[in-house]
Amino acid sequence: MANAIRRSLLTHMAGATIFVAALTGCGGDNNGAEPASDMETAADTVFTNGKIYTVDGANRVVEAIAIKEGKIAALGGDEEIGDFVAASTQVIDLDGRMLMPGLIDAHMHPLGAGNMLTTCSLRYESLTVDEILSRITSCLEAEPDAAPDKWLHVQAWFRQATKPEGADLSAEILDRLLTDRPVIVMANDYHTLAANSAAMRAAGIDEETADPAGGKIVRDEGGVATGIFLDAAMGVVAQAEPPLPEKEQEAKNLKDLSAALVALNEQGVTTMFDAAGSESSMKAAARLRDEGELSVRSVISIVASPDAAKAPKEVVATLKELSGRYNTPVEAQAPGITVDRAKMFVDGVIQAPAQTGALHEPYLHNTGTAENPVWESGDNSGSLYYDEALLTGMLDELVSNGLSAHMHTDGDKAVTVALDAIETVRAKHNSPAYFRPGLAHDELLIPADYPRFSELNAIPVLSLQWGKPAPDTIDSVKNQIGPERFPYLETAGKFQEAGARVAFGSDWPVEALDEWRAMQIGVTRSNPDAVDPKYQGRLGDDPGLDVETAIRAFTINAAYSLNMEDYVGSLEEGKFADLIVIDRDITAVPAETIAETKVLMTMIGGKEVYRADSF
Ligand SMILES: [Zn+2]
Repeated sequence: MANAIRRSLLTHMAGATIFVAALTGCGGDNNGAEPASDMETAADTVFTNGKIYTVDGANRVVEAIAIKEGKIAALGGDEEIGDFVAASTQVIDLDGRMLMPGLIDAHMHPLGAGNMLTTCSLRYESLTVDEILSRITSCLEAEPDAAPDKWLHVQAWFRQATKPEGADLSAEILDRLLTDRPVIVMANDYHTLAANSAAMRAAGIDEETADPAGGKIVRDEGGVATGIFLDAAMGVVAQAEPPLPEKEQEAKNLKDLSAALVALNEQGVTTMFDAAGSESSMKAAARLRDEGELSVRSVISIVASPDAAKAPKEVVATLKELSGRYNTPVEAQAPGITVDRAKMFVDGVIQAPAQTGALHEPYLHNTGTAENPVWESGDNSGSLYYDEALLTGMLDELVSNGLSAHMHTDGDKAVTVALDAIETVRAKHNSPAYFRPGLAHDELLIPADYPRFSELNAIPVLSLQWGKPAPDTIDSVKNQIGPERFPYLETAGKFQEAGARVAFGSDWPVEALDEWRAMQIGVTRSNPDAVDPKYQGRLGDDPGLDVETAIRAFTINAAYSLNMEDYVGSLEEGKFADLIVIDRDITAVPAETIAETKVLMTMIGGKEVYRADSF
């Protein structure tokens, strides 16, 4: 399957603008002063006549770049770089187009994302209940021979945007589907699942079924489960599905990861961080790597649950064992795998109705009416899954072993707890340079915490596309946190102002993969698709990132967060030729059009992995 996908990709290369340069000399002398066609200096590929945006320390822009053996051999003017052209050199005329480092996505979930691409999906759209049912019906009809007990998984339900406002799914609604098959619908926040009665029956859920720790079965007044399952309760339903035989599951993982890689290369992504990895993701990536089909450098985490973190030595032992088994030397030219960090979910999410993101002060709730709302402090401050002592113990053990850490921190309290733990561990270990803990999402902050990111060399890994007015910032958060906290919601520019090194992580498939749209929103703070007036304008008073900083968030800063800045993230001599050609100069066009950027070519380690038909 992987091969078939890659082969179809290669057909894009037909019609490409490739000129093989004429022989420019007949050197034999190897003194370096007369490069010409000398085999020692001849490049494999030279891009000329471009705007090559290097993202080096000075954001230098040059015309041409020479690539040899997968690495950048030289950068400079067309004439200078012409010296690297020999008969065997592929010369690509950029015709003034922008070339920049490949994008680095410092937080995503590639297997889940691939699964989203290969299974039934509602595509994050705002839909009515009838529209949802008709989409699911099409998916059922696409598998006419499926056994009646085969589960159907539906992905990417944008629950908060179900129309009309307040509409929701339930088992009763899903039972209108003409099927006996168990059907489960996953909300795109991955914190909510809707199930039909067949799925609930298979899971044995009735009035007696208790809520699991860390989850909730939503029930009606009579105590009957409605078909909505939150957080850990999702597992109560999902575990009832018979697992695929191991071989079938592995084949599915390969197919899913391959689909994700194609999508990533098309978007210009050349390095990614799997932020909630597992041995399954390592196995799939290793298989593709060994077949020469892994087209994105992959850093893969393992999740350390709060329970597992009670025995931090065991977590570290597992991590080291997996590193030993799957790691590729980071200096290898072809995309490899790095397993060197654990992921901790410090809290949940701040959006209503979940409100599991840990806050310093409670969420507000409406004690008035819909027409005359009165927002008052309730007694829920979210769920802190890791307390400071537990997190400190886990970080301490990782740092003691030269390993790194990535944390999910949504609410302001979770951010503070993580920073406190980092502060303790840094002090204890004399602040090792490789320790660059990532704090993902940081949806809400207290002002005092911004400067601590640079003080502690902690990296805010922001999903910049969330920083806009939308159902998941306005309807489900704005009133629930109140006007004092609202300016600190989904901020980006405030981190930049405080000197933090901002990195980007898409969190795909929590949202559709669209790196360029995310970059635009990081700069503009506004919703490119806003129709409803309540979603127009900027989100809060955050200044957003300037374009140069936004580009760094997607390249060198993300590389730094993954300890890979010596190899990728900027175009500098000796680094890998991980680069992209795009159809516009994003430093010069209006920021409102960055989202329309098209990637024309993606190269990784000097090897072309994607080329648009138009290039
Ligand atoms: Zn995530």
